[in-house]
Amino acid sequence: MSIPSQPSGAPDAEPDGAEGRLRRFATIWSRAIFPSTATSLTRPEFEEHLLPLARELSDTLHGRVFDAAPAHRVGAGLVAAHCTDPDALSSTLGVVDSYLVLYCGGNGPVELSTEDSRARCARIQHALAGGFTQALRERTLAEQEAIARSALTARSHAEQALHATEARFRAVFKDAAVGIGIADLDGNILEINDTLTRMFGGLENHVRSHKVNEWVHPEDSPHVWKYYEELVRGEREHYSVEKPYYRNDGTVLWTNLTVSLLRDPEGRPEYQLALLEDTTERRLLNLRLRYEATHDALTGLPNRTLFFERLEKALAPREGMRFGLCYLDLDGFKAINDSLGHAAGDRLLVEVADRLQSCATAPGEMVARLGGDEFVALTTGPRTEDEVHELAGRILLALATPVRLDGRELTVRGSIGVVEGPSGERTPAEVLRSADITMYRAKAAGGNRFALADAEADARAITRHGLTTALPTALDRGEFFIEYQPLVHLGDGSVHGAEALVRWCHPQHGVLGPDRFIPLAEHTGLIVPLGRWVLEESVRQANFWKERHTDGGPLRINVNLSPTQLHHPSLVAETVDVLERSGLEPGALCLEVTESALIGADDDLLKPLRQLAEMGVDIALDDFGTGYSNLANLRRLPVSVLKLDRSFTQGMQHHPADPVDLKIVEGIVSLAHSLDLAVTVEGVETGAQAEQLRQIGCDTAQGWYYARPGAPDRIHSLLLADAV
Ligand code: C2E
Ligand code: MG
Ligand code: MG
Repeated sequence: MSIPSQPSGAPDAEPDGAEGRLRRFATIWSRAIFPSTATSLTRPEFEEHLLPLARELSDTLHGRVFDAAPAHRVGAGLVAAHCTDPDALSSTLGVVDSYLVLYCGGNGPVELSTEDSRARCARIQHALAGGFTQALRERTLAEQEAIARSALTARSHAEQALHATEARFRAVFKDAAVGIGIADLDGNILEINDTLTRMFGGLENHVRSHKVNEWVHPEDSPHVWKYYEELVRGEREHYSVEKPYYRNDGTVLWTNLTVSLLRDPEGRPEYQLALLEDTTERRLLNLRLRYEATHDALTGLPNRTLFFERLEKALAPREGMRFGLCYLDLDGFKAINDSLGHAAGDRLLVEVADRLQSCATAPGEMVARLGGDEFVALTTGPRTEDEVHELAGRILLALATPVRLDGRELTVRGSIGVVEGPSGERTPAEVLRSADITMYRAKAAGGNRFALADAEADARAITRHGLTTALPTALDRGEFFIEYQPLVHLGDGSVHGAEALVRWCHPQHGVLGPDRFIPLAEHTGLIVPLGRWVLEESVRQANFWKERHTDGGPLRINVNLSPTQLHHPSLVAETVDVLERSGLEPGALCLEVTESALIGADDDLLKPLRQLAEMGVDIALDDFGTGYSNLANLRRLPVSVLKLDRSFTQGMQHHPADPVDLKIVEGIVSLAHSLDLAVTVEGVETGAQAEQLRQIGCDTAQGWYYARPGAPDRIHSLLLADAV
């Protein structure tokens, strides 16, 4: 391919902006292809002629929605301008490839990324080559008809002017730019022109030595020989096909072949006339363009586009066929990239690609790179249930050998999501999403493994994923609210305080309990601002109650703290700040920390809690009894309240309660009291439970028996009732 040398002057040095750059592009283009055109225009005229075509290409490049049709028209326009030489096409593609984005890239209203522009440019070349080919084929057919007509005329006027017409026919035949051959109906070749001989490698004998029907090639389209038979029987006037031939040196010649039937003056079939246009180079070019559009430049693996084509095929309904997909994401690739640099990261990806490729060599298997460090392996066939597991195993094994990079050995690991199933049930997008979710499950389980897709886990993950992404905005949009559940003195039944329990009023899913989103908020870190909001809001609420309810003892507010909040450096400062701003005394606040968060806690972790306790804030050990903590350890912890887990209360549902359960609770209560800890019980649902817990010596209780968690004014009315 000939690409003109870089013109002097950078594109943006042009004085007259977009129009100037477009003109510049047309100049380069005309210089590149003018020598191979058969036009009668001068070069400046030719350049004028190309300008509107250049404009079409430029507009196509940054259309709001990409549409390749104009590029197709430009290809046809070249043929119309007599640029029919194959060189004209390849030079044009070279110019478009090197200069279109450079000169016309920034001309449009739509801002395109470099990657998008390149992708569009490749598609433009593709469409342009297609338009060129089609127009040329149509022209060939027209040319062929003219020749056939003159051949017929020559024969019907044979008696009158045999020599003259014969000479005219010869001239057309000899000078034609396409290969022409005439054969009888048995396939014996009678005449061929020089162009045809050249196309076949230059040996006339080689062409003549075979009958037409002996030029069989394994890649012949299925219709070719059927059409041929119909034509020589006189049932078909002509046909056009794409057909390969072997040259005498064994290489393959690709042609657009048009065959017409020539009849004698009585209308009986007499000869067949073949026109062959050499498309070998164009075909190679198309193959190259197609290859570039469907392969990853770094690793040479099929890219996302090709993978989706294959996946779509694999998922099309076919009796008894199944598919298996392994979706691989390297573990910790970002760290390698960040620490060793992108060049090393790239080499690692190439190595991984090579290894993956060697894992999927069986028919029906393919490996592709989706981008970044994400790869897929696809297998199709009737038995993919077992095959896909083996494939995933092979991939992990292939990755297990360390990769040598710059003299060091890198251990590469990956997580694989495996999806398997029958064809005809799911779309490519569904399968890929499921594979992606499953891959994350493998990663969450520690990586370096594969996980199998499962519809239920998918559904859970999808809502979890949805909730996680919606969490940050939910706080800004005020979608959280707090319900309060009273804490009651077991001795006299008076309301002693309330626990703040957060809820999320989700726009689609309705009200969600904390078990649905607190773990997600913990995971994403959003728990810190969310927890701060809960603290502020409930302290404000408690202060409001205090102002309305001046008689009676201090009303306490219990707020839950999650482990992440415990680790947060500004926990103490923020809590103090919230209390000071609201005017609530520290003794009215109780922070609930789950037992499991404090198991094995060291002094650093306990320090903030200790500081808060010293200020007078109560610390409660929540869900006590579920974490198997060492009771003797309680002494070390800065806690003043034990909240017995609901499971203890549940054990007392039966009447009479299990004596062993009772003994255990009694034991805990007396130990707690000996350590100066108050005991609260959770989940009291019946009066019998309440009575039993009171007898055992528990101090306060919480549960549906008294009230379900509810709006803050409920507590207010309970307090009033209490006061009465
Ligand atoms: P928790 O602190 O142990 O809260 C008590 C849970 O028991 C609440 O569930 C409450 O609605 C429920 N409950 C109360 N009485 C009864 C009863 O008689 N029977 C039964 N079966 N259940 C009862 P909820 O509201 O779903 O909260 C679950 C957990 O979510 C809480 O357990 C707490 O650990 C956490 N949580 C709630 N709000 C917050 C918050 O603002 N921040 C943090 N970090 N965690 C919170
Ligand atoms: Mg709690
Ligand atoms: Mg609890």
